[in-house]
Amino acid sequence: MVMRRLLTVGLVVLGLGGGLLGLYTLGNSRTTQLFGEIFARVETSKPLVALTFDDGPTVRFTQDVLDMLKEHDAPATFFLTGKEMQENPAQTRAIVEAGHQVGNHSYSHARMLLTGPATVADEIERTDAAIRAAGYQGEIDFRPPYGKKLVTLPWYMSQNNRKTITWDIEPESYPDIAGNADAMAAHVLEKAQNGSIILLHVMYRSGEASRAAVPKIVQGLRQRGFEFVTVSQLLASRSEEAP
Ligand SMILES: [Zn+2]
Repeated sequence: MVMRRLLTVGLVVLGLGGGLLGLYTLGNSRTTQLFGEIFARVETSKPLVALTFDDGPTVRFTQDVLDMLKEHDAPATFFLTGKEMQENPAQTRAIVEAGHQVGNHSYSHARMLLTGPATVADEIERTDAAIRAAGYQGEIDFRPPYGKKLVTLPWYMSQNNRKTITWDIEPESYPDIAGNADAMAAHVLEKAQNGSIILLHVMYRSGEASRAAVPKIVQGLRQRGFEFVTVSQLLASRSEEAP
């Protein structure tokens, strides 16, 4: 009897542990969420890839990044925070006027795992307002801070027909190559496939190697036959192929 009770308790603990592990995995997953559409890569037969930059805009680095993209005639998708857009409206407008895609990266860049519905709506809607205030007219995709989301955030996204965009290539997440532009570019060239979404952080001083990697990635992938498009264009290439 005691053994049996112990066994039951043990199984319950295991079950709870497994459930929590499952929730943890789901909260961090780049390819799965409970509700709404999420894209870490786009299924397409065309050799298209999207370059995406998270955070900012900042006064110090926005123009450098825009100049670099212009020099290489490469479009990108910028996931910006509402707070930084409000602080730096001129930089936000410069990104929009250069013709790049702008996405919503939340207002305050807080982890949104157990956030309540009112806060989620506030984080998203204030950021949308800042994007529109800069003159951006396209559909606004969303990327969760730290890639984290669990229940409320995906629910809000699905209720509002919004797409969540993550990534399939993130060279900065490998500590042995993160500070080295050549090594990061080599990683991206090795991993890229049709429909890949590449993530880099280029808006702060810490992003020096990532900024230096951008031209190497653009030139290297073009040599391999890839074309750079925005996330919206990447998604459009998918729907064109739908039966
Ligand atoms: Zn971020």
